[in-house]
Amino acid sequence: MPGFKVAIDGPAGSGKSTISSRVAKRLGWTHIDTGAMYRAVTLKAIENEIDLTDEDAYRFLETSLIHYDLDRIYIDDRDVTEKIRSDEVTQNVSLVSSFPYVRKKLVSLQQKAARDGNIVMDGRDIGTVVLPNADLKVFLTANVEERAKRRFAESMRKGKRVYMKNVIDEIVLRDKKDSTRAQSPLKMADDAIMLDTTYLTIAEVVDKIIDLIDKKEKKHGD
Ligand code: C5P
Repeated sequence: MPGFKVAIDGPAGSGKSTISSRVAKRLGWTHIDTGAMYRAVTLKAIENEIDLTDEDAYRFLETSLIHYDLDRIYIDDRDVTEKIRSDEVTQNVSLVSSFPYVRKKLVSLQQKAARDGNIVMDGRDIGTVVLPNADLKVFLTANVEERAKRRFAESMRKGKRVYMKNVIDEIVLRDKKDSTRAQSPLKMADDAIMLDTTYLTIAEVVDKIIDLIDKKEKKHGD
């Protein structure tokens, strides 16, 4: 496993993807958003009109191509970056990602994608399951009101009308589903560093993570 691997996990709306993407850009490293992969599978399942509760119906993954590159997500070479953010995908992604078959397929893809080079990978189980030997593990948190505020602002920016109460409810429900599922639940790895981002700006969190990487890299060099 040559290269430096950074695992960034945390609950919905903790800023994982934005922060991971910026850290990777600053360093010229590769960023992989694993949440986008679960969302892409969910989108295809909805479009194929399969029974979302039937694990066997996800066998379409045997012949599907999923890849994440430069902040864009592709399924079967179709760019679905905007489509995977729909309410329908968001409401169903925790169900889809709870199936062992789906997780096995995506974890294997993620491990392959992280094999070479310097990688910043974000998700829910990166430090615990996907990259248990990562060089640095960070667990991002923020209180639920702050996370909802960020999601609310993001929706408004995109011209999408939402109600704050619905945003809070959606985040709480998704966290509950993600942290109580049997397979690889959202959990901080024992050797992860927790970063509470409630009162920090994105730039401050990015700086902190880059500092942590620098320190670890220096140790590696000793
Ligand atoms: O990160 P994002 O909120 O886009 O992730 C969408 C969903 O994908 C999560 O709510 C979770 O159900 C699932 N997920 C997962 N494991 C990961 C990344 C995401 O189960 N490593």
